[in-house]
This record gives sequence, structure tokens and C-alpha cells, in this order.
Amino acid sequence: MKTKYWYWIWRTFLGPSRLRKKFVRVFLLAGLVPLILMGAVSAYLVNLTHRIDVTALENNLASQVSGEIKKIIDDAVSVLEIKVTFEELAPIAFNQQDFLLEGILKNNGSLSEASFVCLTPRQCDFGHEIKRWIKTGGESQPSQILRDLSKDPGFLAARDGKTYFGPVVFNDSNLNVSVAAPVLNKNGQVVSVAKARMNFDLVQKAIEEVKLGETGYVYVIDQNGVIISHPDKSLLGKSAAGLPAAESVIKPDSLIKNQLVYENSNGIIVSGVGKPVEAVGWGVVAEWPRAETQELIRAIFIQIAAFALIALILIAVIASWIALKLIEPIAELRQGTSVLGGGNFNYKVNIKTGDELEDLGKNLNKMAENLKGLEEVHELRLRTEMLSESLKKEQELSKLKDQFITTVTHQFNTPLSIIKWALDELSEPKLTKEKIKNTSAAISKSQRDIVSIVDDLVTLSEVGFRYQKTKAKPTDIAKLIQKAIEISSEAAKIKNVAVIFKPPTEPAIAEVNEFTMEKVFENLIDNAVGYSNDGGNVAIEIEAAPKEIKVKIKDNGIGIPKEDQTSIFEQFFRARNAMAKKNVGTGLGLFIAKTVIEGHGGRITFQSEENKGSTFYVAIPR
Ligand code: ADP
Repeated sequence: MKTKYWYWIWRTFLGPSRLRKKFVRVFLLAGLVPLILMGAVSAYLVNLTHRIDVTALENNLASQVSGEIKKIIDDAVSVLEIKVTFEELAPIAFNQQDFLLEGILKNNGSLSEASFVCLTPRQCDFGHEIKRWIKTGGESQPSQILRDLSKDPGFLAARDGKTYFGPVVFNDSNLNVSVAAPVLNKNGQVVSVAKARMNFDLVQKAIEEVKLGETGYVYVIDQNGVIISHPDKSLLGKSAAGLPAAESVIKPDSLIKNQLVYENSNGIIVSGVGKPVEAVGWGVVAEWPRAETQELIRAIFIQIAAFALIALILIAVIASWIALKLIEPIAELRQGTSVLGGGNFNYKVNIKTGDELEDLGKNLNKMAENLKGLEEVHELRLRTEMLSESLKKEQELSKLKDQFITTVTHQFNTPLSIIKWALDELSEPKLTKEKIKNTSAAISKSQRDIVSIVDDLVTLSEVGFRYQKTKAKPTDIAKLIQKAIEISSEAAKIKNVAVIFKPPTEPAIAEVNEFTMEKVFENLIDNAVGYSNDGGNVAIEIEAAPKEIKVKIKDNGIGIPKEDQTSIFEQFFRARNAMAKKNVGTGLGLFIAKTVIEGHGGRITFQSEENKGSTFYVAIPR
């Protein structure tokens, strides 16, 4: 079971099929491109949305905090704006003032001091505090110290009927703002001035409570960019002017964009926004260290990459599996075709995919069947061809045999009938000496012809139709020629033909079979003499070249007619003029000569013109 499983894995993903690899490559490529595109687009979108989100969060938070601070300030100011119900311009009753101031401090957490300042010189010192309450550790109590505030800008403003909200003052590491408001009677006339000091407890609490991720924070600056509230209290009083977010609040006209990335006062890269606190000119700055916001993006990117990787692996697995399913029938087809190619037409492929591949498989099976039929026909034809070939050879052989018998019969017939005639002549009672002599000569000639025929047949039986040199030994060709001349000498003498041969001084040695080579020259010289006219010449020359012995046999006899020249080396062939000249001849001499010479690796050629003579050239390798 286990091996099977591994085999499946190997075959599916690692197996050697080229087609599968191609499929998987295509699938991977097809999957990879959209995957990369999708990844890039989602990364871009995530980045963009994230930026927008960060800005939106910062903006929201800054606005919210700004609103809260505005409310704290409004509360502080509004609690001071007292409308007294007296008809006349009388100051507020003394006993009521304590009650009011205590109430003011009690009702507003951010006011740590409150007082009434005198406006009616007849009853009190103008510009001096009449009553003053302070709050320490949550407890309010009247203060004995009353100050002259006649030059105080808050007093002066409130005297003129305006509510005053002063600049932030740093006092022994405490921040506060002087607030003043007119006390109005029911006719709207200023009858006194309520003055207070606002601390930053509530503001500080407000900014410390907000959350911006893990590391983000907000802080408050005044109209000069000085930090007046910050979770990191050591930064209070420091200037944030110059930091882009703060700048965007205190100098709203500067060309600073909504969301800014910059180095904060602690040297940390943050993205920040600033929102103004309405009416007072302060600003709320929200800053979020980039490290955290980028970390969030990075986490999302890692998730995208992980998803892409998983998708890619899935694509590879699915592609491999699909490829395998597609290739299985193709592999079967390949197997089928290679078996068919090997000549086994009984093989059948079995594909059940229900598609074009199944059709292909069926077609292949059909083709195999047809090929099987064709092969049988082909075999039959081959056998018939072989049969007719051997029949043809048989016929040729039989023809040759017939020709042989006819020729031999005919050849023997002629001298034998001459001998019969001669014997008849000799049995005549009246015989002249002359007649006896002539008749004996005829018998002798016929006997020589018979010997010559028998000789040719013996040589043929020795040489055969396809000769190969055997029993070769170094032989002097000149000597063989001389022997052959001697054999023909009697015939030459009768015809008065001069045979001229000048043997060379050096022996002309070649490695030949002596018996068959002798027959070659016997035939050639016998022909030259036999086909010469009476009183003709036969000239024989020999040349011992380094590689071969060349012999030339030239006569001035009857020559060979042009139309017969192509056939004279065929067995039993005789030219028509030859038959007229010499009625006995087997037509085997030149056939034997050619067979023997070629069996020795040599050449035999001739030149001839009818009635002028013939020259035969022989070349024998040494
Ligand atoms: P044969 O001499 O017995 O007829 P060969 O095979 O020796 O047979 O020669 C074949 C034929 O070639 C001859 O019949 C003859 O027609 C021709 N031939 C051969 N040698 C000569 C020659 N020297 N001159 C003319 N004809 C020749």
C-alpha cells in the first residue's frame, strides 16, 4: 500500500513524462500570472486603504479630542458667565459671593481658583478682588490673599463685557489659563467681573484616555505651537512648532497636506494630523508611530504571500493531477503505436475517456487490423514473387541446358558425319592415293575438332559459370603463351598463318591458376588463328607492368560484325561470319576466358572491325 502511494506521488509530480512537465509548466504559468497580478493589486489596495484608515482614525481622534477640549473650555467659561437678578446696579451681596464662588469651583473640575473683582469704587476698591476661593486637593476654601487686578487683561476685557480666555501660563510646572467673564444684571449691565484660573487636569485626562493603536497618542498645543498637554509630561512646555502636523494647525495657510509623515520630537517617525480647537487657537495633534502602522501592513502582506504560496502549491498539485489524467490515454496511445511500429498488429489499445482520445484509440485499433490484412497480402505477394523468380531461374537453366545439348549435339554431329563420310569413302573399291590422302586429312581434322570440343567442355566443367581463382602460384605468363602457340601451330601451319611472338627477356610472373590461365590463351590464340584468312598474321605482345601483366593478341582476320560485338562473351554465342568461316565451334571459348580473367581480378577487352581483324587485350594482376 505504501509503495503504491509513493509510486502515485512519483508518477504524478516527478515522473518522466515530458508532456506532463509541459502541462504543469503551462498551468503554473497560467496560474502564476493572475496570482501575481492579484497579489500586486491587493497589496496596492491594502496599502492605500491602510493609509486612508490611519489618516481617518487620526483625524477622528484629533477631532474628538478637540471637541472634548472645546467642551472643557466652554464649561469653564460658561460657569463664570453669571447673570444676577438684581434690578439695580448693586454688587452681588457678599454672602452670596462666597456661595457662588464655592459653587463655581465645585461645579467645574478644571477651575482651581475663582474670584469676583470689584467694579463699584464706592463699595470696594476698583480692580481689586472682593472674594477669592481656591481649590487644593479637591477642597475649596476662601483665600485671604486678594490681589489688585486693575491692570489684568482678563479684568479689563470682562469689564468691557467680553469673556476672556487668556494665554497658557507656566507656573511651577503647572499650566493654567486665566479666564474672565462679566457679571451682568438683568438689564445686561456689567456689575462685576468673575475671574478664574483654569488648570489642565481635565484636558490631560482627556488626551490620556484616548487610544490610537498600541503606540499612537494625541497631544495639545497652544497657538504658538507649545505643547500644553501631552501623555509624556516631560514634553510639556516644549515647542512642537515646525512639526508638520502642529504647523498645519497654527499656520493653516502653509502648504501642508492632511496626513504627514515626519520625525516627532523624540526622533520617531510618525504619521500625524492636526486639528484646531475652535475659538482658542489651540490644536490637537494625533501622532502614530509608523513602525506600528507598517507592522500591520506587513502582517497583511505576509498573509497575502502565504495565501499566494498555498494557491500556487494547490495549482501545481491540481495541474499535475489533471495532466496525469490527460496523459494516461496519450501514454497508452504511444505504447500502442510503438508496439504497432514493431510489427505486432494484434495489439489493442483500451482508452475509455469518452472524448477525441477514445476516438483516436479506436482508429488506431482499426488501423492495426487493416495493417494486419495488408501484411498478409504482402507476405503472399512476396512468396509469389519468390516462386516466380525461382521458376524463371528454372526456365533459364532449362533453356541453357537445351542450348547446351543442341550446341554439343550439333558440334559433335559435324565432325562425326565427316568421319562417317570418310569411312564410307575409304570402303570404296577404287581408291586413288590422292583420295586416301584427302579422306585421311578430313578424318584427322574432324578428330581435332572433336578434341577441341571435348577440351572446351572439360574446361567449362572445371571453371564453372562463376569462377574464383584457386590453387594460384607464381607463373610465367610468357611461357603459357608459348605453350598455347605450340598447340595452335599445326592449325596455323595448315592455314599458312604466321604467329609472331617475341618473348620478353625477363619472365612475366603473375600469381595465377596455371591450368585455367593456359586455357585462356589457348582459346584466344586458337580464335586468332582460326578466324584469320589463309596467309594471315597473328601478332602477340606482352608487357610486364609493375602491377599487372598486359597481353595483346592481334590478327588481321575476318573481324567481328558490329551488331555481334556486344554478345561475343556470352556462352554458346557465335557471330554469323564466324560460323561461315569455321563450322565447328562451341561459343564457349571467350565465355571461359572472361570468366577466368575476371576470377583472377583482371580485365579482357577487344577492338574489332569486320574484314579487317581483331585485337584482344588481357590484363592480369600480378
Ligand atoms: P568459338 O570460337 O568456338 O566460336 P569463342 O567463344 O571462342 O567460340 O568465340 C565466340 C565468337 O567470337 C566466335 O564465334 C567469333 O564469332 C568471335 N571471335 C572470337 N575471336 C575472334 C577473332 N579473333 N576474330 C573474329 N571473330 C572472333
